[in-house]
Amino acid sequence: MKLSKLASEIAESPTLALNEEARILRERGEAVIHLGIGEPKNKTPISAILSSAAKLTSGEVKYTPADGTLSLKKAVIRYTEENYDRLVAPENVIITNGAKQSLFNILYSLINPQDEVVILAPYWVSYPEIIKMCYGKPVVVTPEDGTFTPRFEDIQRAITGYTRAIIVNSPNNPSGAVYPPELISKLVEFCEQKGIYLVCDDIYHKLVFDRVVAHPAYEFNKKQIEDSHIIVVNGVAKVYGMTGFRVGWVVGPRELVRVMTNVTAQTTSGVSPVSQAAAEGALNGLQSIVEAIRLQIENNRAVLLQEMKTFHGVRLIKPEGTFYALPDMRAFNGNSVELSKFLLKKALVVTVPGKEFGMEGHIRLSISGTVKDVTEGIARIKWALDPTSPNEIYIGDKKMIRDWL
Ligand code: PMP
Repeated sequence: MKLSKLASEIAESPTLALNEEARILRERGEAVIHLGIGEPKNKTPISAILSSAAKLTSGEVKYTPADGTLSLKKAVIRYTEENYDRLVAPENVIITNGAKQSLFNILYSLINPQDEVVILAPYWVSYPEIIKMCYGKPVVVTPEDGTFTPRFEDIQRAITGYTRAIIVNSPNNPSGAVYPPELISKLVEFCEQKGIYLVCDDIYHKLVFDRVVAHPAYEFNKKQIEDSHIIVVNGVAKVYGMTGFRVGWVVGPRELVRVMTNVTAQTTSGVSPVSQAAAEGALNGLQSIVEAIRLQIENNRAVLLQEMKTFHGVRLIKPEGTFYALPDMRAFNGNSVELSKFLLKKALVVTVPGKEFGMEGHIRLSISGTVKDVTEGIARIKWALDPTSPNEIYIGDKKMIRDWL
């Protein structure tokens, strides 16, 4: 079959592929533990259920404006004022099918073929693929000091005449790193000066621990939104645990929003009004749900850190936000794809290879599940890799003996 060269070269989503493999194993009755997927376990917030149910029972489920309903935009405007201290107009906001489509749409609207977009390793798996889909070129900046926080000087060095945007994701998927305010501040100043867009993927911004704050780029910029190069992406997936509703949004200059709206109108025609109503319900409803999710994950992180203490050979930088951790597993296997496969086969634990995030030798663990998932998942990984751990373990009701170390 003759397919588009560009489309054929787009990589499969590794997380979705692993989910599928885990689902097949589970269907066979295997006791799989999923430390791969990034979604909180909570039920949909009641305010979101009621609001979307009301929309559904009205029977008026029709096209909405391509850039979103005014009532959801108003909820986003209020959210932006409360969380970013910025008053924006409805023309500065567009609602999208998840933050993923926000990012695609932004890059599609910003870049010309061969333009470069700087991404900071470890980066979210979809960034390079989305950039490539827009005929752009991903330029990766990797911290050389073994941390997950890039140095401003290294980012500066990666800039060329073709650079159109830098994507910043703090709190960061996959490392859980929260970038220091000095770095964000320098990036804002630099981007404004050079006319480069700073795309802030803030999807995890409230999932932070130990009183760490993810400082938004707006904090360091007094410019009017129309003159600013800051573009903010957010959504209901992570902070409200509403991954399935597929609602995200962008806040940016009107000209960008206008072009993005045309792109949306010619592709998806916008987001289902049932989902938009749900997002509106979540944003306007009781916010204690966000704190409940944050606390549950903070607790899981404490359990993770405790369990990792006795895992010999692993180096872990403590995550300060998100529900991910990215331990360095090079002491066991420098090839993270092989290691993830091995862990799924021997220990029935799903992890995501660090290679997918531009951090070979590491694996990403998601701690968005239950405490039991975290403790048992780590115990199994330890059993599979660490010769100092006991060589017998129960996986489901099967007693397993380690015979490969
Ligand atoms: N950005 C990052 C950093 C993410 O981790 C994700 C989800 N994994 C998204 C964007 C996409 O979010 P959504 O589900 O709203 O499309």
